Amino acid sequence: MSSLRGQPVSVVGAGLAGALLALLLARRGLKVTVFERRADPRQSEPERGRSINLALAARGMRALERAGVMDEVRPLLIPMRGRLVHERSGRAALQPYGQREHEVIWSVGRAALNRVLIEAATRQGQVSVRFRQTCLAVDCASNTLRLRDQAQRRDQALALAPCIATDGAGSAVRVSLAAQGRLQVREEWLDHDYKELSIAPQAARALEPQALHIWPRGGFMLIALPNTDGSFTATLFLSRHGAQSFATLGSAASVTAFFAAEFPDVLPLIPDLTAQFAAHPQGQLGTVHTHPWQVGGQVLLLGDAAHAIVPFHGQGMNAAFEDCTLLDTLIPEHDDWATLFARFASARRPDTEAIAQMALENYHEMRDAVLDAGFVRRKTLAMALERRFPERFIPRYSMVMFHPEIPYAEALRRGALQAGLLEELDAGTDAAPDAARAERLVHERLPPLTSGGA
Ligand SMILES: Cc1cc2nc3c(=O)[nH]c(=O)nc-3n(C[C@H](O)[C@H](O)[C@H](O)COP(=O)(O)OP(=O)(O)OC[C@H]3O[C@@H](n4cnc5c(N)ncnc54)[C@H](O)[C@@H]3O)c2cc1C
Repeated sequence: MSSLRGQPVSVVGAGLAGALLALLLARRGLKVTVFERRADPRQSEPERGRSINLALAARGMRALERAGVMDEVRPLLIPMRGRLVHERSGRAALQPYGQREHEVIWSVGRAALNRVLIEAATRQGQVSVRFRQTCLAVDCASNTLRLRDQAQRRDQALALAPCIATDGAGSAVRVSLAAQGRLQVREEWLDHDYKELSIAPQAARALEPQALHIWPRGGFMLIALPNTDGSFTATLFLSRHGAQSFATLGSAASVTAFFAAEFPDVLPLIPDLTAQFAAHPQGQLGTVHTHPWQVGGQVLLLGDAAHAIVPFHGQGMNAAFEDCTLLDTLIPEHDDWATLFARFASARRPDTEAIAQMALENYHEMRDAVLDAGFVRRKTLAMALERRFPERFIPRYSMVMFHPEIPYAEALRRGALQAGLLEELDAGTDAAPDAARAERLVHERLPPLTSGGA
């Protein structure tokens, strides 16, 4: 048993990763104090300005199973069996995500999931969550964690180490460590922003409930995910500047005209569109690359604080939860924080870099490629190859979403091999490719998945 058992540890941020991590650490026998900037979400309205619902997939679910909370999470989930693609003409077609009954992804409300995780963590006697405590900075030289108590309006300094920072994409801990020259940060902002819009339950009856709806329009797109109350949360992803951009949507008339031209079937679903458009925040999207993620045994960054990504593969939370799984797995093998943090960072980095890249690539796929006949043909072919060679060929999307036993980096590597193979086999017509040639190429290029991918 690890000698870390019984030791105190601080966690900064009780968001999705922080709350799950606190629970897992407590189950390992650690004494956890979590400092969270917000008020207790079990007693207050959720903050606006964050995505309201998220796609949960196998990697995230595996972590939730591990923490023993799936029974509480399951009632919050709505299955999404595929992308329901809405063309400008009004034609809509479902592109299934997978081809087995269980190959679905799940829409879940952020606030409800966060509440369940905080509740489960605090049920562990070993966890104390202190709300309305904002981390101002960390100082490794003096081993200090500086916090502002918002209720008392006073600052305090506590002993820092060991501390795990799960304070999200804008992490104050990361900013503070970067300012001290302890790590390097590269932020790559997308020139596309997002805005969320709500479709009320009554109007949402027009939408198939068990799907992720997409209105792809080439340079931009609208998506909508279902909520348990029958409503949908729609998100517009659009360039900040340019001919068709948020910059041109400054007036109610321009917003209505834009929706009438681009999303005419959505316009009647949001009668208060212009009011919502004016009231809801316009969010930024980007990828955060940080190196290193840890400072000795004092601080470790985890989740979005270490590696925030764009949301187009629906994997940011799933990856953050998978971080928690990995750290939890490594704890029994380590007796000191410095080696644990270093081992976690070196084992995990290749995978988070891979999902960052795949998430960016998926934006193009969602807003554009799904309408392309060649894309649809190759997707059908990929599914056929998976049925014939399940131990060798699994579409990249499926590896990422349904196969947590295949690391992200491996999904990226095999995905590239498979894409080349599909290019070669795709004759540009609907005719099925030569079966013997397909078999030869698959066997030559794709060794069997060692991790039991089938
Ligand atoms: C539009 C959009 C859609 C998305 N869709 C998906 C999806 O479908 N599927 C998916 O898997 N992921 C999705 N994501 C990504 C997902 O939201 C994040 O990856 C996930 O929330 C990361 O969890 P986290 O705990 O690291 O950070 P967060 O959930 O952001 O939690 C950070 C916590 O730290 C607290 N905090 C912040 N600063 C401080 C401070 N100074 N002191 C104390 N506490 C602090 C915050 O209040 C918060 O509680 C989406 C993201 C966006 C923006």
